[in-house]
Amino acid sequence: MVKLSERIGCISPSPTLQLLKIKNTMKKQGKNILDFGAGEPDFATPDIIKEKGIDAIRNNHTKYTPVTGIPDLKDAIRKCYMDEQGFLPDEEQIIVTPGSKFGLFLILQAIIDPGDEVIVPKPYWVSYPEIVNYSDGKVVYADHLKEDALFELTADSYIEKFSDKTKAVIINSPSNPTGMIMKSEELKKIISACVDKNIFLLFDDCYRKIIYADENFESPLKLSPSSLENIAIISSLSKTFSMTGWRLGYTIAPEYICKAMAKLQGHSSSNPCSISQKAAVGALLEDQSYLEPMINEYRKRRDFIANRFNEIGNISFVNPDGAFYFFADFTYYINKLGFKDDGDFAMDILNKLNIIVVPGTAFGAPNYLRISYANSLDKIREGLDLLGEYLKG
Ligand code: PMP
Ligand code: GLU
Repeated sequence: MVKLSERIGCISPSPTLQLLKIKNTMKKQGKNILDFGAGEPDFATPDIIKEKGIDAIRNNHTKYTPVTGIPDLKDAIRKCYMDEQGFLPDEEQIIVTPGSKFGLFLILQAIIDPGDEVIVPKPYWVSYPEIVNYSDGKVVYADHLKEDALFELTADSYIEKFSDKTKAVIINSPSNPTGMIMKSEELKKIISACVDKNIFLLFDDCYRKIIYADENFESPLKLSPSSLENIAIISSLSKTFSMTGWRLGYTIAPEYICKAMAKLQGHSSSNPCSISQKAAVGALLEDQSYLEPMINEYRKRRDFIANRFNEIGNISFVNPDGAFYFFADFTYYINKLGFKDDGDFAMDILNKLNIIVVPGTAFGAPNYLRISYANSLDKIREGLDLLGEYLKG
């Protein structure tokens, strides 16, 4: 056996993706799993998108593509941001990647030198600190677990962590796992602070179309288009279009950043899947009337869970404004039932109820659980009935 690199020793497997593995193993054992684990839409990829993928195969669009993506997909992305946010990126300011996770990986590899600090929101999506670590950066947390402003994505939470070594900040709005949206005045403030100090702002807008609140989603490109020199948008088709397996994301960033990312993409994945790229053009340009019913359904589930949590009692949470997760504090029950921590608690729930939830520690928030409602209302009802009984002890 060869010795593994020190670099790979610095990161752990993705806990959210490991849950998918557990789910598949339990399914094979014939168990009825109630899965509120990994954030993957339960809806099928819409037919209109699937058809575009099938057409791509039939028309032999099955070869290497340009490293940064096919021109018609870049045009579709440009049109989409122009229509939505009044910002028209140049073709050279876009790089299409196999999932937005890989876009994030490429950009951090491209801009981080050893010891550079990257400010990551906490609670965080599981891959942020790991990718920063893998890029030899130092993770510094913007704390969103403060009692008086629980989960609030404030500019100051980042600015107070600025140092001479700060190279980049990551903002995720709507947030995974909290569902919070960064308000426009906060976003303006952090953009201007980043421009001031020449800090790069990575804005992950994967969930920007999945919003329930009156609160509008605010984008840096709309609020401060002249700041693109300091901003990258990291985005994905996975969630909005139920396309997790197609692996399709993109980054909008200054041209020199996209070029640097393209060097690494050219020597690693080569390009995103040719078929997925054609399907993505369909997703962005064809009729999207399926979106509203999907979001209404997510909203129904969100409201249902909020009501049930209130009925069960002693679970504290903030109603999510976007994405499809409840991030709730179960300290009362972890103590009452005598568990060591949220990991043991989640494991007992899995073993006794066949319910998959993600322990908060995976997101840097002990005693919380993340409950994904990318699952049917029937399953959610069944799961919460079981959980309610279980919590009575
Ligand atoms: N950002 C956030 C906040 C996420 O939750 C995810 C998980 N899907 C991603 C990025 C990556 O998504 P993908 O690679 O499927 O585009
Ligand atoms: N982002 C989703 C989640 O948080 C999917 C799994 C992953 O990529 O981490 O569950």
